[in-house]
Amino acid sequence: MPLVSTGELVARARAAGHGVAAFNVITLEHAEAIALGAERAGSPAILQISENAVKFHGGGLSAIAAATAAVARASSASLALHLDHVTDAELLRAAHPAGFSSVMFDASKLSYGENVKATAEAVRWGHERGIWVEAELGEVGGKEGEPPLDAHAPGVRTDPAEAAAYVRDTGVDALAVAVGSSHAMTERTATLDHELIASLASAVPAPLVLHGSSGVPDEEIRRAIASGMVKINVGTALNTAFTGEVRAYLAAHEQGVDPRKYLAPAREAMAGTVAGFLGLLT
Ligand SMILES: [Zn+2]
Repeated sequence: MPLVSTGELVARARAAGHGVAAFNVITLEHAEAIALGAERAGSPAILQISENAVKFHGGGLSAIAAATAAVARASSASLALHLDHVTDAELLRAAHPAGFSSVMFDASKLSYGENVKATAEAVRWGHERGIWVEAELGEVGGKEGEPPLDAHAPGVRTDPAEAAAYVRDTGVDALAVAVGSSHAMTERTATLDHELIASLASAVPAPLVLHGSSGVPDEEIRRAIASGMVKINVGTALNTAFTGEVRAYLAAHEQGVDPRKYLAPAREAMAGTVAGFLGLLT
């Protein structure tokens, strides 16, 4: 079916008190697995491509974005396209012609003042084109001119009052917050600060985004959504499923050379992971 917009999926989930999941696309098989998992779960989903994945594909947005969009359009599930962790202004501008309905603009390496300025500018640019803009805020109470800590660094937490000011001053449509999850975790052992999630949800008018959800156990994700978390980002869990199948096949078939032999079970394993996460959201 035609692509839907991220803003619409997030608004719909929020109104229903549900979550909506965004899964990272690295290869074509990731995109196919996300579509397959969404169809099986009967749920919408967001396919997101990170700036790092774009770099992996040689820096050009068009090929991986076009392939992902084609997979999404061919699916019977409601799927949206999101550009994740964008720091490069040129890549940000490429999002619109490539069919993305949303971007996550990541100015978290800048000082607080510069972060607000750059993000407000990105929001202005996006809103002129109907693009929904997500940003992230970790610890912002640092000294003048000092960069705020990465929202995904262990131990970092987002302050509700600062988050409310940040959303007001930048106009972002959604805010990624630091509440105990962290990127690239291969085991699901993270414990979230549910009291903080509830405080953030009541202080911040924009929907909240949980990055690093691969490391968060099922029950913690359910509780986070009940406390007000809306967009749930999942990347590493797909790669764990993918690589596990590839490794098992290659270990058992030392002479094997046909990539379809291991990419097919790898894609199937990712689809199962996608459907599993989607089952936690309602
Ligand atoms: Zn992230």
